[in-house]
Amino acid sequence: MARSVPADVVRKCCEAVDQKRKEIVNFCRDLIRIPSITGHEKKAQEFLRDHLQALGLEIDFWEPEISLLEKHPAYVNTGSDYQDRPNVVAIHKGGGKKKGSSLILSGHIDVVTPEPVEKWSFDPWGGEIVSGRIYGRGASDQKGGIASMIKALETILDLGMEIDGDVLLESVVDEEFGGNGTLACVLRGHVADGGVVTEPTACKICPSHRGSIHWRTKVYGQGAHCAAKQRGVSAVEKAMKIYDAIVDLEDARIKAVRGKDPLYTKSINPVPICVGKFIGGEHTGTVPACCVIEGNMEFLPGEKIEEVKSIFEKTIADCCKKDQWLKRNPPTIEWLAFRFEGAEIPSSHPLVKVIQSAYKQVTSTEAVVEGFCGCDMRILTLFGNTPSVIFGPGSASHEIDEFVSIDELMWTTKVLTLLILSWCGFR
Ligand SMILES: [Zn+2]
Repeated sequence: MARSVPADVVRKCCEAVDQKRKEIVNFCRDLIRIPSITGHEKKAQEFLRDHLQALGLEIDFWEPEISLLEKHPAYVNTGSDYQDRPNVVAIHKGGGKKKGSSLILSGHIDVVTPEPVEKWSFDPWGGEIVSGRIYGRGASDQKGGIASMIKALETILDLGMEIDGDVLLESVVDEEFGGNGTLACVLRGHVADGGVVTEPTACKICPSHRGSIHWRTKVYGQGAHCAAKQRGVSAVEKAMKIYDAIVDLEDARIKAVRGKDPLYTKSINPVPICVGKFIGGEHTGTVPACCVIEGNMEFLPGEKIEEVKSIFEKTIADCCKKDQWLKRNPPTIEWLAFRFEGAEIPSSHPLVKVIQSAYKQVTSTEAVVEGFCGCDMRILTLFGNTPSVIFGPGSASHEIDEFVSIDELMWTTKVLTLLILSWCGFR
C-alpha cells in the first residue's frame, strides 16, 4: 500500500516539475487551442492519443457504444451517440506486482460553449497568458487538470524512476452532459485501486460530491391580444410565482443542511438550485400562454433522487395552492435525463491521506478538504469499484474569461507526481 516519499525524492521531483514549467504551460495552452465542445471532442482526443503514444504508453482509443451503455443504471440518455467521439486511455504498466497500488488519473476533454464570445476579453481558444493565468474555455474545466496529470507521469518517466503499480491516464468525452465517457471506461474494464478526477477544485482535496437533477416546468396561462389583455392570464407572471417558490426552497434547504456535513459547512451554498432557463411567451404583442422554467437542483451525498424529486414537487404544489389560476391549471413537471446521486469516500480513506501528505510536501501547508459539485468521480467510485478523490487546478468553470492559475497548475502536477510514487510504489 501507500508509502511516504522520502524528502530527497520529493525535492528531486519538485525540481524536475519546475524545470518543465514552460512545457507544462505550453501543453495546457495547446489543449485549450483545440476546441472540444461536447460532441466535438475528436481532434483534442487524437492530439492526446498521439502525445501519449509517443511516451510509450499502451493506448486504448475507442468510441463508446450506446448498446453497452444503455443497459447500465448510470447511463444518461443525452439523445446523441459517440461516433467520432473517442475516449483515450493510456496505460503505464507497473514493473511490480503490488496489490492495491494501481491508480487512475482521469479528466474530461469536453468543454461547454464559450458563448457569448463577444463578452470575452480574450480569445476563448487562444490560451493567452496574462499575469500568471492561462485564459481560455476549458482552461480550468478541465484541460489544466489533464495537462497536470499527464505531465506528472512524464516527470517520473523522464527521471528514469520505475513505478510498481499500473497508472492509467484517462481523457473522456461527454462529462458535461452526464458522464457516459467515464462509464464507458468502467464498462471496458478500466478500473483501479484508487482514482483522482482532476476537476477544478482550486487544489482542494474533495472526497465527496453532490448529486444533481435537471427539471423542466411548463407554466400555462391564457393567451390574448394585447388589446384584450383583460381576457388573458400571463404565464410569465404565474411562472414568476413558481420561480420565487424555488428560490425560497433553496434558502430553506441551505438553512437545513448548514453544519450537518463537515465537508459542506464552509460552502457559501451547499445545496444550490439554479434556474438555467426561463422562457416565456409566443408573440411580442400577445399575453404569454406558456412559460418554461428549466433548472438544476443539487443535493448532498446521502439524499436519494426520489426524495429530492418529491421535495421539489411538493414546493410547486404548495405554491399552486395559493393562487386560484395555478390551482386550476397546475404546471407540469418533467424530470430530464441528466440526474445522478452524490458520491463520497471517507475523509480517512488512505487515498485522501496520501494526497493530503503529498500536498503538504509540495506546499508546506495543510490542504483544505471539502465537498465538490457533481462530476464523474461517482462513476469510478460507485460503479467502477475505484475509490476516488477530486483534485485539480482552477475554479472559474463555465465562466466568461475562464482561466487557470499557473501556480495551481504547477502545484497539481507536483502533488500528482508524488501521489503516483506514493500510491503505486517506485524504485
Ligand atoms: Zn469539469
